[in-house]
Amino acid sequence: MGAGWFVIRIVNMEILEKIPDTEHERILFASDPENSYRGIIAIHSSVRGPAVGGTRFWNYANEDDALLDALRLSRGMTYKNALADLPLGGGKSIIIGDQNRGNRKALFRSHGRFIETLKGTYITGEDVGTTPSDMAIMLEETKHVAGTPNGAGDPSPATAHGVFRAIQASIKFLQGNDDLSQTTVALQGCGHVGYFLARKLHEAGARLIVTDVDQNKVSRMVSEFGAVAVSPENIFSARADIFAPCALGGVLNDKTIPQLRVKIVAGAANNQLLEEKHADQLLARGILYAPDYAANAGGVIHGCTEILGWESKQTNRRVDEIYQTMLKIFEKAQTERISTNRAADLLAETRLKEDARPKETFRQRAE
Ligand code: NAD
Repeated sequence: MGAGWFVIRIVNMEILEKIPDTEHERILFASDPENSYRGIIAIHSSVRGPAVGGTRFWNYANEDDALLDALRLSRGMTYKNALADLPLGGGKSIIIGDQNRGNRKALFRSHGRFIETLKGTYITGEDVGTTPSDMAIMLEETKHVAGTPNGAGDPSPATAHGVFRAIQASIKFLQGNDDLSQTTVALQGCGHVGYFLARKLHEAGARLIVTDVDQNKVSRMVSEFGAVAVSPENIFSARADIFAPCALGGVLNDKTIPQLRVKIVAGAANNQLLEEKHADQLLARGILYAPDYAANAGGVIHGCTEILGWESKQTNRRVDEIYQTMLKIFEKAQTERISTNRAADLLAETRLKEDARPKETFRQRAE
């Protein structure tokens, strides 16, 4: 590590006790006093391959909050990548700071140098607060970065396709066929993924009820897809077959679950359940929940063109297979009388216990 750097190994037991699985392989903390850079890399697992997970740039209230987020998010990436059967582990990195202050280029170069010290055991990409141009800056310091402007490109269409397949699987599980022409979908969030998902649903004959805090995005959906607009507060109680959260995390909670008038929840947003108990609440209400990390894996699968050199034919096929994965989750949950979220976790954990398979691709990249 170059001059001006110091890396501290974090062992903060109080924080580690707050998350259910603290078996992270490595937690590293770095700072570069010259440009006020503070960063964290959490590698949860590299059992199945290099740890992959984006860089989040966020102004956390304190370092404990940032660390907790890194631990949770990296664990989530392990499960997402395992369930999608990718030869990848799970990791996440954080830059702690204010988007509007400091020298952005210098911060991302520092972060790139930090990532480079791991020699490919961690590969990063975009996440909340980061853009393809930030990835391009990091590329000046490390090749272990995906999501660059000349790389795999916008993952949103692939994510939307995966969510669409999750919705088809949900309908299939409940009614025995994939036909969406008689369904109404209440869609929260008309952003990147929401837009592409709405287009697919519209083409499949579904009716749409949409909301967003940005009225321009709502208007586009109304004019292009004949969607009915509702206010952000009213999306939870919209009478529909499916609720598709494509905006924020934590939207399935004590307040919203009793309002739902749907039979399926399937969307793109990460961490839709505020707490694990909310998966049980959905089960108790007879609402089929497509676990978010299984439904929204299309983005990371799409990134494999850049991370692992896969052909787009291969990634498209893998995104399509979210349908089969989802059916497997639903069947396991039904047989074992557990929530679909628990069933997804168990399937991911089984994969993690299997022999780590295609390591060659990882080694090629890491050298
Ligand atoms: P985005 O920022 O383009 O879209 C999110 C939309 O939600 C925005 O239009 C925003 O105005 C809207 N929104 C924010 N608060 C809202 C509220 N209270 N009510 C209604 N709408 C609100 O993001 P995106 O890339 O489309 O991602 C959507 C979700 O899917 C995020 O949770 C993201 O983490 C997750 N996700 C995205 C990808 C991807 O490929 N982009 C992959 C996996 C997961």
